Amino acid sequence: MNEIGLGADHAAASDYATIVEGAVEGGLARLDLETKVRLLTGVNFWAMHEAPQAGLRTMVVSDGPAGVKGGSAGHDETTTSLPSPTALAASWDEGLVRELGELLAGEARRKGIDVLLGPTINLQRSPVGGRHFEQFSEDPLLTGRMATAYVLGLQSRGVGGCPKHYVCNDSETERQTLKVDVAERPLRELYMAPFERVVREGGAWTVMAAYSGVRDFRMTESPLLTDPLSDRWGFDGMVMSDWFATHSTVPAGRAALDLVMPGPDGPWGDALLAAVRSGEVTEAAIDAKVRRILRLAARVGALEGVPPATPPAIRAPQEEVSALVRRASAAGSVLLTNDGILPLDLAGIRRIAVLGPNAAVPAGQGGGSSNLRPDYSVTPLDGLRAALPAGVEILSSRADRVRPGLQLLTPAQVRLPAAAGSDAGKPGILIRFLEATGPDTPAALTGPLGREFHRDQRSDGRLYWGGDPRVAGMPLLEVSTLIVPETSGKHRIAFGIRGHVAIWVDGQLALEAGNVPEKHDIDSMWHEPPYQAVEVEAVAGHPIEVVVRWRKFYDQTAIFMYYTLEQPTMTPEEALTDAERLARRADAVVLLVGTTDQDESEGSDRKSLALQPRQNDLVRRVAAANPRTVAIVSAGSPVEMPWRDDVAALLLTWFPGQEAGNALADVLLGRVEPGGRLPTTWPAAMADVPVLDTQPVDGVLRYSEGLHIGYRAWLKAGTQPAYPFGHGLGYTTWEYVAASPGEINGLPAVRVRLRNSGSRRGREVVQLYLSRPQSSIERPARWLAGWAPVEADAGEEIEATVPVDLWALRHWDVAAGHWAIEPGEFEVQIGRSVADIRLTTRVGTQG
Ligand code: BGC
Repeated sequence: MNEIGLGADHAAASDYATIVEGAVEGGLARLDLETKVRLLTGVNFWAMHEAPQAGLRTMVVSDGPAGVKGGSAGHDETTTSLPSPTALAASWDEGLVRELGELLAGEARRKGIDVLLGPTINLQRSPVGGRHFEQFSEDPLLTGRMATAYVLGLQSRGVGGCPKHYVCNDSETERQTLKVDVAERPLRELYMAPFERVVREGGAWTVMAAYSGVRDFRMTESPLLTDPLSDRWGFDGMVMSDWFATHSTVPAGRAALDLVMPGPDGPWGDALLAAVRSGEVTEAAIDAKVRRILRLAARVGALEGVPPATPPAIRAPQEEVSALVRRASAAGSVLLTNDGILPLDLAGIRRIAVLGPNAAVPAGQGGGSSNLRPDYSVTPLDGLRAALPAGVEILSSRADRVRPGLQLLTPAQVRLPAAAGSDAGKPGILIRFLEATGPDTPAALTGPLGREFHRDQRSDGRLYWGGDPRVAGMPLLEVSTLIVPETSGKHRIAFGIRGHVAIWVDGQLALEAGNVPEKHDIDSMWHEPPYQAVEVEAVAGHPIEVVVRWRKFYDQTAIFMYYTLEQPTMTPEEALTDAERLARRADAVVLLVGTTDQDESEGSDRKSLALQPRQNDLVRRVAAANPRTVAIVSAGSPVEMPWRDDVAALLLTWFPGQEAGNALADVLLGRVEPGGRLPTTWPAAMADVPVLDTQPVDGVLRYSEGLHIGYRAWLKAGTQPAYPFGHGLGYTTWEYVAASPGEINGLPAVRVRLRNSGSRRGREVVQLYLSRPQSSIERPARWLAGWAPVEADAGEEIEATVPVDLWALRHWDVAAGHWAIEPGEFEVQIGRSVADIRLTTRVGTQG
């Protein structure tokens, strides 16, 4: 394991390890049992306890993985929003991902964060998985190498990575309780392999144990935390639980789980202390956990007297951050089809229509704990407006400026009320923390108010308090604002929260409701919570005064509320007709469809791979009105595109992050080649997907497909997806000339000659797959074994030496209980995707 990042020499690494271990032992010796046990549970939602007597300051963690949300109690802070991890994996560019890790470290340090809760490296076993967008790939090799690059980037700048969720938390349905039944080879070769790699080669400083379980154990109590994680892979960092995932004192205390999150409550604390005193858990087990916490502290610079493992990052200037995110977003964009319309030739374009639900509204990220407030969002319309010459007219539809359904209130829609004093009239929402009087019933909300002991202001409808000690003691909240409607007509104002809510509109009590769940369930925070709504007839520009009171009824250290507005929109038919009209007038159409953070979110799996209602009609009708239509799909995971052959080009941008519009303009106008290749198979129809089911039966989810997930399963089934794993076009063409076996530093490699046969410089991702038809063990038809991004000028022939990744050559020998490599020859298939093999050669192994 690499102690201090890439490039560190061994002597320096072992000197540093000696300093760290000395400080860890010294710190441990200064702690009494009570303090040691206290350190093992968070102090609040995001932070850990300090222990000044051991020189330990508090450490703060934050989500992760497509940005750094920040660990402040307020969470009104904004941050850099990266493209979704699916987009990063689609770049197949480890150097880029490492740079993004460094960027994230700078962002983390600016926000006082020691550990970033990412990357998410569960596999995309089924395309319906709710966090598919947050994961890298369906392939373990691609996932493991991307994860390693991400963690090396972060940790080289002093911020800990936290690969999550160990292990087999690959879907969301019943994730709190499900147990995965998986055979040994797929467990080792698929699901654990990315964790193994990021531990061995990335040297991850922490790992997060999943909510779910494998076989007989919850992951927070699992023997897999010891073997293989620490015993075989040499993980010496800290294991933290997923949030509220620890359910026992003794079994979890005996397991190699080190930190229960969040705090301050939970199953450890005094109960664990008592278990140590009664001998049920040994003090040695507690010491082992504390050592891991102190070691983490040393590495991130939180232990007095020990220099951090790597020099802490300084955030780069904003222009550099923006440029990198823009580059990443284009690098991950996958051009699925192109009849030659792209890059757009502006010579023939006087009018361009930019249409669709994602044209004017940011749709840059998925939902759940990774969802953050971007520093800014460049929409496709903004990006194209900035990039197109003044002579090109942009046509856009009023229908696209307002999303249908309930949407979070934006800063432009809210003004602080008179009660905000000198801030009244500024953008914002006022929140007053009050003492409740009277019984804990809905009726009490309309009664007299108690003392106000705190107030906050928020800029938009995402109201969130985590890790705030005031929240724990806070019984009643009053949320007030002036909503400024942009259009006239019937609006719906809704408040999403569990609990008792009363709503006043312009001084009149409009709603009084109670909604009390029986128990607290963290998933409900990410799902759409139950909405309490009122309808209001509004006049554009005339503010509506809205006051909401909410009575807290359960004890919890975090509160999630969503304040939303539904504005009148054109009828669906009017919107379609308007889009057709504009498409007819234009010389080319850029049509933006896709999913949102409501469609794809942590907390639930998707029911369908279809786009939202009427998006398919929209594409069909616009494409019929103008054959020069380029469809842009923004989605973190596969969606069905039944019209995919009706459009002139089809570009997939994933969830592109805050630079969406600029990167899109770069790609459409040919300033940058779309660099992406699919890290996951895109089906034509959900019914074709070989591994789909994520519904546990009696609490158990059986991975009965064994080794065959993703493209392996498609190959086995012999069915054709819409777009295979590895697929993606650039703006030039490539001829694969010859391949022969090679070597890099004594390790197997393949020499590939290829020629840029098109008319412009371009980038190609040369992909290697292995096959072993005569194997003595079960094998997929072929599997990814390496890749190399290359570049060449028009007409240029180049040679790339691509390593055959040793991790792809090995298999888990079940009988022997260790890794093995079959001796003899493997066929290496070289191509542009798993379904487009251009050359073959062979490599030999000694076994
Ligand atoms: C998620 C984790 C996340 C944690 C803290 C959990 O619900 O599963 O990925 O890091 O919350 O927000």
